[in-house]
Amino acid sequence: MAAGIVVALLGSASFGAQPAGALDVRAQDAGDVYEARMELYVAAEAMTHVPWTLLAAVDQYARSLRREGEKELVAVRLPPPLFSGVGNPSFGSADEATIDFFGGKGRDANGDGFADPDDPMDRLFSVATFLRERMGEGGPEGEDALCSALEEILGDGRACDVVPNFARIYATFGRLDLHRHVFVLPPGSRYTLQANFGAPRHFGGRRIHEGVDIFAPYGTSVRAATYGYVEVVGWNRLGGWRVGIRDLQNFYHYYAHLSGFAKGIEVGKIVAPGDVIGYVGSSGYGPPGTQGKFPPHLHYGLYRWNGRVEYAVDPAPHLRMWLREEKKGKTR
Ligand SMILES: [Zn+2]
Repeated sequence: MAAGIVVALLGSASFGAQPAGALDVRAQDAGDVYEARMELYVAAEAMTHVPWTLLAAVDQYARSLRREGEKELVAVRLPPPLFSGVGNPSFGSADEATIDFFGGKGRDANGDGFADPDDPMDRLFSVATFLRERMGEGGPEGEDALCSALEEILGDGRACDVVPNFARIYATFGRLDLHRHVFVLPPGSRYTLQANFGAPRHFGGRRIHEGVDIFAPYGTSVRAATYGYVEVVGWNRLGGWRVGIRDLQNFYHYYAHLSGFAKGIEVGKIVAPGDVIGYVGSSGYGPPGTQGKFPPHLHYGLYRWNGRVEYAVDPAPHLRMWLREEKKGKTR
């Protein structure tokens, strides 16, 4: 995160209970950015009764789809026709009365007289208001309504499955600073990392190797690399016993050929970096239970969802970075 981001959010506060100036934020580093975001989410919850965890989740999902979103205080925004209204000649900043006239959902939260799609506060409050309207008072229909609202905002049918899980991660830890990484094996493990991403593979049809192989003794603990939730657990023909974990950057971490799973690892389980999820084995390449067709190793894959497709990235540089990150954290 670039240092020295200075964000002056608000001159005159316009929302009731919030003391004026409480959101006048100078974000100097990553920690301050999280703090500034949290203040916005909490203020938007107070106004709209949409939980801050859900707002944080929608915002983080939008951020994960666009790399430049990292630098923005608020990444989520209503699509222009939804913000300004269909037929509104102005897609930019406008007063609420004009936006209302065209059926737009843009809101002026910072009290400057204009609903501005480029202002982080107006942007977030417009999203929160829209979610509140669509979700009504909740209940069983609330979930479907949330799904279609998320699809309208993010333009991505998958958001419906992922965003509520992001919200559960935020609810579990009660903070936004959840991007720390560790190496996938415990410190001191004996292992050999084979950086063989992209190598040809022939079992199960012609394909390339979408990951790296980390050779380690049978039974070595395998750890979650970062915060996330378990999306998949069980057997597949190639991967054997495998676990799939999605993190808050929308990376899918795929751990395969395990000899077994750690206790409590099931779909929906929320994990923190370093949590043991399973154990190195040699399962796979056949029907459930097949093992020993190759030496024990962890196959580790890393996939990224960009809103349209999920593509494999080479995990090796990430793993090296996380190894360094973990060592640095220890000596601090
Ligand atoms: Zn492999």
